[in-house]
Amino acid sequence: MNQRTHAWIAIRAAALLADEKECSGIVKLLKPFVRAAAAGAWLPDKGDAKIGGADTDNHVLKMEPYSGPQQERFTLAKPELLKKLGSERAMAAFLAADKVLSNEWWEAAYKADPKPGQHLADRAGALATTITDLLIMGDSDLANLLPRPFPFAEELDEKCRTSREQAAMYLFMQSHFIADACMPCHCDARKLSSYANGLHKELESHWSTKIDSFFDEHRLAAATETPDAVLEKAKTVDKAFGITFKNEIPDLVEQDVWLEIIYICRGSFAVASIIAPPDQYPYNSTARAPFDEVLKAKPELMGEIDKVALHDAVLNVAITWKHMWKRLGADQQ
Ligand SMILES: [Zn+2]
Repeated sequence: MNQRTHAWIAIRAAALLADEKECSGIVKLLKPFVRAAAAGAWLPDKGDAKIGGADTDNHVLKMEPYSGPQQERFTLAKPELLKKLGSERAMAAFLAADKVLSNEWWEAAYKADPKPGQHLADRAGALATTITDLLIMGDSDLANLLPRPFPFAEELDEKCRTSREQAAMYLFMQSHFIADACMPCHCDARKLSSYANGLHKELESHWSTKIDSFFDEHRLAAATETPDAVLEKAKTVDKAFGITFKNEIPDLVEQDVWLEIIYICRGSFAVASIIAPPDQYPYNSTARAPFDEVLKAKPELMGEIDKVALHDAVLNVAITWKHMWKRLGADQQ
């Protein structure tokens, strides 16, 4: 996804948490920094931040058919995946209604083999643990927002404790990886899903043309609007994608960010396989599936893909942030 899209997703997720009103602390933490959200939400795609080279195919869990040992580990039948995705994700409704992928497709094993450092679930899960640790070491300003006190932090040197700015930056950074998991091409190992092969870049450009240029990093950073106005502006983008939110953020199905991202990626791989069905675009072929042919020429499908990717990217970020925040309050030992 492009910079504008990543910034919008992060800000829209903050607006969703604000509207839900269940976790006021995290809203108070994020809201003052929404004009700087692009700095965090786009940081993982900045050239210098791409450890392992500025490869545009970073941040992936690209799956393909698998015939090696332990195939049951890499098999997830449709009813099980739908259960894992829960009832609130647009992806679940889209896959439930799909007729393109056969039972045979769903019963096969699929596995990803990302290069070190690129694995989306690893990145999002590692940040979940890191951010939790950073939050409980928060300085006195940040500690005031947390769901309960962590007295050990008061014994730390104030300079070693996490500021609100740092906590917000890391949360926005995490949103990047959660959003990337919702991009079908990031989860499909076929050549047709490579960044510059006719579908991936074009689909991402299509999304960013529907998002107000207000969310471009320099414009956003220079914005004079209040944080509340920025949240409201993010909400106005919903209609461009035909999406609505219930203002109810469900719990993390698996109570584990890593596993949740694995399931989302598995769903995104299925979505990619619906956009470019494997009987026309086999997994071992190098054929291209141009955006104009597989999506632009099918406005109904494209509208559904927009909803699945963008609605769920926002919801998945909000689900993850809410889960992490609530765990801080629940972990009484
Ligand atoms: Zn990325």
